[in-house]
Amino acid sequence: MVELSVCQKRQPEIASVTTRTVLAAALALAPLALTLTPVGAHAAETAGAPAPSAGQLAFRDLFRELVETDTSVATGSCTALAGKIAARFRAAGFAEDQLAAFQDPAFPLDGGLVVTVPGTSAKAKPMLLLGHIDVVNARAEDWVRGPFQFIEEGGYFYGRGTSDMKMLDAIWIDTLIRFKAEGFKPKRTIKLALTCGEESGARMNGAKWLAENRPDLIAAAFALNEGGNGATDAHGKVLSQSMQTAEKANRNFELQATNPGGHSSIPVDDNAIYELSDALARVRALKFPVHFNDTTRTYFAKVGAARTDALGAAMVRLAADPADREAERLVASDRTLNSMLRTTCVATLLEGGHAANALPQRAKANINCRIVPGEDGDTTRAALIEAIGDPRMTVTPVGRVRPLAVPPPLDPRIMGPAEKLVARHYPGVPLVPAMMTGATDATYLGPLGIPTYGVPGPLLEPDGNGLHGLNERHSVEGAYRARDFLHDLVKVYAAQE
Ligand SMILES: [Zn+2]
Repeated sequence: MVELSVCQKRQPEIASVTTRTVLAAALALAPLALTLTPVGAHAAETAGAPAPSAGQLAFRDLFRELVETDTSVATGSCTALAGKIAARFRAAGFAEDQLAAFQDPAFPLDGGLVVTVPGTSAKAKPMLLLGHIDVVNARAEDWVRGPFQFIEEGGYFYGRGTSDMKMLDAIWIDTLIRFKAEGFKPKRTIKLALTCGEESGARMNGAKWLAENRPDLIAAAFALNEGGNGATDAHGKVLSQSMQTAEKANRNFELQATNPGGHSSIPVDDNAIYELSDALARVRALKFPVHFNDTTRTYFAKVGAARTDALGAAMVRLAADPADREAERLVASDRTLNSMLRTTCVATLLEGGHAANALPQRAKANINCRIVPGEDGDTTRAALIEAIGDPRMTVTPVGRVRPLAVPPPLDPRIMGPAEKLVARHYPGVPLVPAMMTGATDATYLGPLGIPTYGVPGPLLEPDGNGLHGLNERHSVEGAYRARDFLHDLVKVYAAQE
């Protein structure tokens, strides 16, 4: 992912249950309680923040274990983490038949886990919580702190996956264990699928595997996933909370120029590298048309109205009239908003030539396109070919092709409770539908007819929190608040009939 008013009064964690149950819940969440990492270790605690509650400490320990278990495709194992999570559920009293570990024998490191909490109502359909437990690779030598060390410092949790998406994984796990400790009996069956391969797909994508091999394990009326967030200003103030109800499709195209080549001491104008550079300059200049959908039109109108600057006014004008060029020019100056307006294509990889003293025979580049709903790989390839305008260049689709995401309906049974709870947990902050410019595993649930919503809660700061980059982090206060908010949100949905 992309894109947080402070709660007046922190909601006591489990108002309705006795301290004993809280403690039981906390211990259940930290079977390794004996080894519960004292807050001091790895933590320059958040100055001025209230001491974490027992439940928050247990959540923090669970979060720590997730982050400190490397699940990157280069050096980690999702199967190892899935095993640890299953152990925590067992320790919390979940029965074996509620825990379904899965893996493709060809990819022993890419295993996952499905947890099922049976509902009491025959009428209510199941709901699915989806979370990928793999993370993007991280080279320790490039980071300030160890990427697979969970460190609390200056009001932030640091570590690979703290924002994408191990905090949300921890909240899903923590929520089901708290429900058990609270004695909460959901009407809907609640399923939690923890999968690998979302970030790389180099080997196996767990969501795709479940959809193709065990659709029964994840069948549900709707799913909650990563993708929404609380957008903050540079000071951490939450400006808006978004429910992700659309996402762009991710497609790669290889641009290639070929040439007979020859000896570099007798060059000619015709050169594969020059030809490719000319084509790249035209790709760079290519601007796809503004293409709103229900989600982005609503987002621009609502978020624009909540802003007090010229950009906000331009967002509102553009949502009302997509042909307003002046408004478009202003909005497009913001990289995130621009990427929500239209399909984008950008060069990401380059390769050319075969010897320093030979004219290049081949030069190629990867173009990564993010395609808005309503357009697809074919229309995008056609636009690239037209913009390049050089029939000698080949434009070939390459890489992993996920199904196109199916935008879920703005269902009032989903949006209504979320709006209410955002108002309670983030007073004065609007909830808006939003389109994800990145891609998620929701694309694999579309073909099963499972509408998938990216939940609000996790905070995203203007610099992107180091997502997929260096020194990934998530605010401590924001993590505990998202935990409270999502515990309540899942509970409301699970109680629907
Ligand atoms: Zn992610």
